[in-house]
Amino acid sequence: MRISLVLLSLVLAGVAGSVLWRRFSSPASQPRPLDPAFIRLTPSELSTLPLATRFDMPMGSEHGALTYNARAFRISRHLGDDLNGIGGGNSDLGDPVYAAGAGRVVYAGNPGPGWGKMIIVAHRLLEGDELGPVVQTMYAHLDSMQVQTGQKVRRGEVIGTVGTAEGAYLAHLHFEVRLGPYVNPGQGYADTPLNRVAAEQFVRAHRGAGADVLSPDSEKD
Ligand SMILES: [Zn+2]
Repeated sequence: MRISLVLLSLVLAGVAGSVLWRRFSSPASQPRPLDPAFIRLTPSELSTLPLATRFDMPMGSEHGALTYNARAFRISRHLGDDLNGIGGGNSDLGDPVYAAGAGRVVYAGNPGPGWGKMIIVAHRLLEGDELGPVVQTMYAHLDSMQVQTGQKVRRGEVIGTVGTAEGAYLAHLHFEVRLGPYVNPGQGYADTPLNRVAAEQFVRAHRGAGADVLSPDSEKD
């Protein structure tokens, strides 16, 4: 019994050691690698997240004009909305992608084939919001990224540009809204919605302004 306990602790120590080694051995200059384990935002990270009082669409105009949703949430198990420029094809390649709301970048990297460059921004919602206290907006297949992990962003700030996930698709923005404090690049399709909600619908419900109202820069949070 005692020997098996000793063996068990040796195995556990080995596992913990290799996890730590992998975590800290990657060079700091590399983009954050895909960690299959969930990262949970700590209570202090959560309490210092910028408050998002309003949301706008991340492409086209503030209410998404000049774009269309080519594959909406839950169509063919899709976990996001695929936003395209109205010109179709690759006409939107390089168009700006805006932070949908005030928040902090919690992931900016390339998690693997099929995703291309991806940014995840975490937002604190107004008290009493039924989807709160924390949501994340996720922007994928980007051609370029203009922000880094840890950076604060304002609503409407350019965070990257529309891309093709390195030639995997015609240019479009895969846009998701996720609930809760667990950060993980994850997958774009699943049998169940996981922690995702319909992104376009979420923004419409959280615009805090009429559908015809654009937001002047001075009012951006
Ligand atoms: Zn998609």
